[in-house]
Amino acid sequence: MLQITDFFLMTDLRILLWDIDGTLVRSPRAGAFRDYTIPVMESVFGTAGRLAEMSVSGMTDWQIVLEALASAGFTPEQVRGRVRELRERYVAELERVSALPHEEPLFQLLPGVREVLEAAEAHPRYRSALLTGNVEPAARLKMRLVGLSDFFRLPGAFGDDSHDRRDLPALARRRISRRLGIELLPTQLIVIGDTPNDIACARHFGARAVGVGTGRVNSVETLRPHNPDLLLPDLSDTEAVMRAFDSL
Ligand SMILES: [Mg+2]
Repeated sequence: MLQITDFFLMTDLRILLWDIDGTLVRSPRAGAFRDYTIPVMESVFGTAGRLAEMSVSGMTDWQIVLEALASAGFTPEQVRGRVRELRERYVAELERVSALPHEEPLFQLLPGVREVLEAAEAHPRYRSALLTGNVEPAARLKMRLVGLSDFFRLPGAFGDDSHDRRDLPALARRRISRRLGIELLPTQLIVIGDTPNDIACARHFGARAVGVGTGRVNSVETLRPHNPDLLLPDLSDTEAVMRAFDSL
């Protein structure tokens, strides 16, 4: 039988939905993703369109591809027809490039990330999952490369689910609710990310929004006008971050 304490635990439960790029990890060099993305787009479509000039922070992978190729005359339908091939080649290329000897790693953990994930895992109020514009195999590969895979055993929502990030929180809620066998409320979801798009997707669904100032494009100052529930310069002070999460 359900105990009163279980009920409290269920309603107090919070799901931390983590963005990847600029929130958990970043490339040592700005725009490094173009090195492995442009050749793949050229091999599938004959061109990478205007990808080289685009600022892609906060965009989903398919949104990036659709926008980059629109200027080269590709319709969304033409792109969609080759999405599976593009994803397979992209992930294979990412895997190949990450295995090459590098002076510096392809992705670096941002300060305090592992400690906050560990603190959340040790706390009964929190579970972590991914909510990212990356296609799922790329997201999982990045987590493997930085040694974070074990923190993300719950299902999440990914760039292959929709080109519109605002669709992702509802998908994450449905999948995680099913996995945990409970009906999560939107307010039990906390979306953590480094761009206005992360905040907007949380708002769209009625989830909580946490902005972190560790992205390349945005800072605490540029995120503030988007009114996240919490704004953190970075995740380096584990105790302060966990105390801030406790207020949500
Ligand atoms: Mg990001």
